[in-house]
Amino acid sequence: MPSRSALTISIHELPQSPIRLSLRPIIDKGYRDTDCPPIRVKHLVNRLPYPLFRFLANRLSPAGPKARLSILIFHRVLPEIDPLFPGQATVESFDAQLDLLKSVFNVLPLPEAVSQLKAGTLPARSAAITFDDGYADNVTNALPILQKHGLHATFFIATSYLNGGRMFNDTVIESVRRSPLTRLDLNDLDLGAHELDSDVAKAKAIGKILPQVKYLPLDVREDTVAQVVTRAGVGSLPDDLMMTTSQLKTLHAAGMEIGGHTHRHPILAKLDPNTVRDEIVAGKIWLEDTLCTPVRVFAYPNGKPGSDYLPEQADIVRELGFEGAVSTQRGVSTRPSDVFQLPRFTPWDVNQTAYALRLLQNIVTG
Ligand SMILES: [Zn+2]
Repeated sequence: MPSRSALTISIHELPQSPIRLSLRPIIDKGYRDTDCPPIRVKHLVNRLPYPLFRFLANRLSPAGPKARLSILIFHRVLPEIDPLFPGQATVESFDAQLDLLKSVFNVLPLPEAVSQLKAGTLPARSAAITFDDGYADNVTNALPILQKHGLHATFFIATSYLNGGRMFNDTVIESVRRSPLTRLDLNDLDLGAHELDSDVAKAKAIGKILPQVKYLPLDVREDTVAQVVTRAGVGSLPDDLMMTTSQLKTLHAAGMEIGGHTHRHPILAKLDPNTVRDEIVAGKIWLEDTLCTPVRVFAYPNGKPGSDYLPEQADIVRELGFEGAVSTQRGVSTRPSDVFQLPRFTPWDVNQTAYALRLLQNIVTG
């Protein structure tokens, strides 16, 4: 029976390679041979299914003409969970999602993915990451995480809100969030009356007000939203939600793709063809003049075919020299897809395994 010190020495003297070789099978096995109660180890739970997910994704989305391209949408990446929108990506969840995407999918720049989709040369498990609107947190929070994982994303910018502007939806959200009232009566604006006595109530109020405001003509929408601000009884609202020109240039200099998203983010389906063209051209020219580079891809504001843009408006986007465009129609792109109406989707789940399954489900059902 060796003494304790002798035993310690003998372990230290073991050659290192058998120890290294023995580690991988234990970890890869995914379970422990023990009578102990199960120990939930976060990094094992999160990482172990990746090879299985890659295998499944390879079967569902093979390389070449039968490839199925997954295009993901993000809007904001917050420093921490927003109690009004707990599903919104945070620095932590975005980091975990990119870890999964990088491990399971081949993430391509969107313009490259579009041209390979048309040519039938996409790699297996192809995906592209996109952001809409031009939020400043895309630069401060998302960019460092994208760079950490070595991933590319495309950012669609509504140019009129840069440098201190605020989109109508954020004006409503921030007014409701900051309102000192417990009840917001907007009946005279035909927007109903809403309880504001909790975060849940505020989220519900926002969910009811926004869809009613969204489809108003642009000038009416601006006036109505200004009325909501007054009724909510809030003073100043944030003016730093969107990127500055300098931040946009930082994003572009980091190798990210910048895409068009119109100038004022209107619902294109409600506009006449000339105004549609003007909105798209104004955003494209502003970006091209600012970044000295062609703007190659476009995202329809709000993005639902039929209600937010019309199929014939895809022809305008094509005529204006874009190479592809994306909607918010849920699904996955295949070689026969119209590259000027490519579907996108937003998978979300608190659990990484369920998140991965949602990505795979989209490939199947898309
Ligand atoms: Zn948008």
